[in-house]
Amino acid sequence: MLTHTPGFPRIGRRRELKRAVEAYWKGVNDAATLDAVCKDLRRKHWEMQRDAGIDLAVVGDFSLYDHMLDAAAMFGCVPERYGRPDGPVGLETYFAMARGDGRTGVTAMEMTKWFDTNYHYIVPEFAADQTFSLIGDKLFREVEEARALGLRVKAALPGPFTFLLLGKGPGGSVDVTSLLPSLVEAYLQAVARLRETCEWIQFDEPVLALDLPETLVSPFRSAYEALVEAAGPARVMATSFFGSITHNARFVSGLNLGALHLDLARAPEQLETMLSEIGPDTLLSLGLVDGRNIWRVDAEKALALRKTAVDALGEERVMIAPSCSLLHTPVDLEGEDALPPEVKNWMAFALQKCREVRMLADAGGGAPENEAALRENAAAWKARRESTAIRNEDVRRRVSEIAPEMLSRRSPYTRREAVQREKLGLPLLPTTTIGSFPQTRDIRSTRLKNKKGEISPDAYRESVRGWIREVVDKQTEIGLDVLVHGESERNDMVEYFGEQLDGFCFTQNGWVQSYGSRCVKPPVIYGDAARPDPMTLEWILYARSLTDKPLKGMLTGPVTILCWSFVRDDQPRSETCAQIALAIRDEVLDLERNGVDVIQIDEPALREGLPLRSRDRADYLRWAVDCFRLAANGVRDETQIHTHMCYAEFGDILEAIAEMDADVISIEASRSGMELLKAFEEFRYPNEIGPGVYDIHSPRVPGVEEMENLLRNAAGVIPAERLWVNPDCGLKTRDWPETLAALENMVRAAASVRAELGGS
Ligand code: GLN
Ligand code: ZN
Repeated sequence: MLTHTPGFPRIGRRRELKRAVEAYWKGVNDAATLDAVCKDLRRKHWEMQRDAGIDLAVVGDFSLYDHMLDAAAMFGCVPERYGRPDGPVGLETYFAMARGDGRTGVTAMEMTKWFDTNYHYIVPEFAADQTFSLIGDKLFREVEEARALGLRVKAALPGPFTFLLLGKGPGGSVDVTSLLPSLVEAYLQAVARLRETCEWIQFDEPVLALDLPETLVSPFRSAYEALVEAAGPARVMATSFFGSITHNARFVSGLNLGALHLDLARAPEQLETMLSEIGPDTLLSLGLVDGRNIWRVDAEKALALRKTAVDALGEERVMIAPSCSLLHTPVDLEGEDALPPEVKNWMAFALQKCREVRMLADAGGGAPENEAALRENAAAWKARRESTAIRNEDVRRRVSEIAPEMLSRRSPYTRREAVQREKLGLPLLPTTTIGSFPQTRDIRSTRLKNKKGEISPDAYRESVRGWIREVVDKQTEIGLDVLVHGESERNDMVEYFGEQLDGFCFTQNGWVQSYGSRCVKPPVIYGDAARPDPMTLEWILYARSLTDKPLKGMLTGPVTILCWSFVRDDQPRSETCAQIALAIRDEVLDLERNGVDVIQIDEPALREGLPLRSRDRADYLRWAVDCFRLAANGVRDETQIHTHMCYAEFGDILEAIAEMDADVISIEASRSGMELLKAFEEFRYPNEIGPGVYDIHSPRVPGVEEMENLLRNAAGVIPAERLWVNPDCGLKTRDWPETLAALENMVRAAASVRAELGGS
């Protein structure tokens, strides 16, 4: 049975790609060195997969920055501001498209989340007169590399529909009908070059899992008929992932594809339907091994699906694969020696997942080694199910006893607002920040030394206190109204909490790409979440002791902790989230009990957990909002709850955000020139709100006037009594000089608009 992967992590076991790319950006490496590192990584990754039993070498999944950007470069979709390329897009232009160019001042292309993952892709940008042509040769060069290694090649690239639908035309919308002919022409040119050298050509069409307009059915089918026809003797595989595609079965039913790939980890229920939809000669690629998580495959379940497929199609028409590209999992579990051994035995990273694919493909073949692997799999799952390490009866009881009144504040916002105003004594347009302040080299290195045990706990505590003093002093000098402690003790807003919660564990090298050279190391939630001890109390109370101004305690919310972790797959996400919410609730109440009267619970990831299809969204929003409310709403009226959101467009979930019932929300709005405010013209947000008045992702210091204007605009749609003034996110990635300058300007802008509005 043929095995393949839709893609493999590109960053390398030790993040070699990150290092090489960043060294190139700094001018430490030249292009030739970068190229050599990449070539070496590609070879290693193909060989790793081959040696693990993967038959087809996937080519095209490797990228210096992002695969959608690669496709844009390949098909000549280069926005005018980068200059019209007269050949393949060079490195300079490519990286300028990805990250902007400080020297020329040209801005980067937009970046956004790849479906419901934590990976970000570069959004293709289409001009009004956009046409496409094949100008890139990267894919073809890589195909030659793989062939030179004697591998069976499957070229992979985003499919034309995914490329178009995830892009952005003038004014934001994409006119698929007018762009498609030229794009398909360009794809046909690519196919013409691949057909002689590749056994397979894979087009990723994850948009098939979304709600798609009926009008696309026929263009989709004609495009694929043409691609299949042109590809012979190579075979075309269309992949879907991240959800069921039965609602879009008409796009592919009876289509003469070489193969159709389904994500059966996420949506096993679609198999039955799709079996009867595929064309008579089409192979079905079963995505049985979860490419989005780090657990071993449940072989028993997977083999049942395999059997259903084989019974219907015969072995020759079945392929086995991970559910989606392995991009979303770390490379290799080997060497992760700090994990609890019991938990490690339940896990599989990309390389292990390739072996699992082979194991499932060979099941029933009678090879003693494979039978042993299957037995080992069953034993690991049995151990996991029976493990006491994953169960905390106390937490389970608490979750079962969650009562509706625990989710609500005692009084409605209008009543709370008056009490809080009185207690906190804040001016009109109060100023604050989102929590973190610059994480200097000293902070980072001292924190690292503490982690390695190279300094004493006392010495570390003294350092943190010193940083807190510094941050409180500076905020006082700047004249901010609500102060924070600065989060210097936190390496990462999720990791910091995960490390102190039961049921979480951490890898040493479990990196996954988030965007470009940026990687994250998500915590692993393997068991019931519980808080043995307070997590932030000491630092917040110390900060509070230093000032008479209101001091805001900072916590990460349950939904964000969930979304940015590898979650357990043995219970619903909502259940795991409720456990985390209870832990945060305990922390909130501890803070309140100790006199912290402003508490912020960040939920930047709330929007990204939103299901891909509209019919599933209400359910998610219900439990996600309830978990936030569970965490936040145990407090008294006079305690002011803040939340913060960023990294997304919020227009479509404003109602849910309002239902969270935080007293104050700070929300990213400045990058889009406060486009978000338009949404508030229609939706009257009932509580207080601080639309970010400057973009912290850029080192640029915003002028006073610029922020005054933004505030005046904001005051046009949000009543001034409910308006706050803050940057649009935490300041931890910034340097001190720009931070001070920007915040001083922000405070000045707030003061002058406040005066205009007649407030004191
Ligand atoms: N409080 C966090 C910070 O300031 C929020 C970060 C975020 O929104 N991602 O860093
Ligand atoms: Zn933020």
